[in-house]
Amino acid sequence: MPDQKINVINDIKSILEYYQALGFDSLPMSSKFPVDSHIEFSVGKNDLLKNLREEIGDCHRCKLSRGRKNIVFGTGSADSGLMFIGEAPGKEEDIQGEPFVGEAGILLTKLIEKMGFKRDSVYIANIIKCRPPLNRDPEEDEIISCRVFLDKQIDIIAPKIIITLGRIALQTLMNNDKIRITAARGTFFEYKGIPVMPTFHPAYLLRNPKDKWLTWADVQKVMEKMKNSKA
Ligand code: URA
Repeated sequence: MPDQKINVINDIKSILEYYQALGFDSLPMSSKFPVDSHIEFSVGKNDLLKNLREEIGDCHRCKLSRGRKNIVFGTGSADSGLMFIGEAPGKEEDIQGEPFVGEAGILLTKLIEKMGFKRDSVYIANIIKCRPPLNRDPEEDEIISCRVFLDKQIDIIAPKIIITLGRIALQTLMNNDKIRITAARGTFFEYKGIPVMPTFHPAYLLRNPKDKWLTWADVQKVMEKMKNSKA
């Protein structure tokens, strides 16, 4: 997605500071003043993600705030064509404030590297941004509170392809709790026009290593699509 052009307070502030540095202490409003009212400011995806993180703040929108150590916003390249979406932070992610840094994360990182990418060249996020107690499944009210931020993250990053990891990420993104991961994996779905490839969650693959080849087959379809669309 090209950089979004919007007027933001920070840009206005720098313009005002510029005129202040030139010696103005107020804004002359006459037509003699050389202000081009059509100036547009370009704000990159990193700035938009930063603004979104600020919007989330020290979130207390749901009960998970009571037990979390850190909000796990997301990590990686905002300009990536590829985005991974997991379920929720676990213990290690909660401590470090970064998604997929525990055991399942090590496996995900291996997968990303096997696909030919560096971990920090893709974007990784979760359906919810705070750790559920004892790693239980996220509850509906928690998903509802948090999901808007994931939607905004996806809008900003505008990846060419999304890979969902596990049942909950798939069902939530698709707004459909009837989809079964075993039946759905390996076939493309669509979210706001973006192809979505569901595959197994790395934590499942740690428990069922014999199914790793299925995930490898799924991501090969993604690589094929990326090659064809030059994502
Ligand atoms: N499992 C997830 O779904 N997300 C993480 O960040 C870590 C483990």
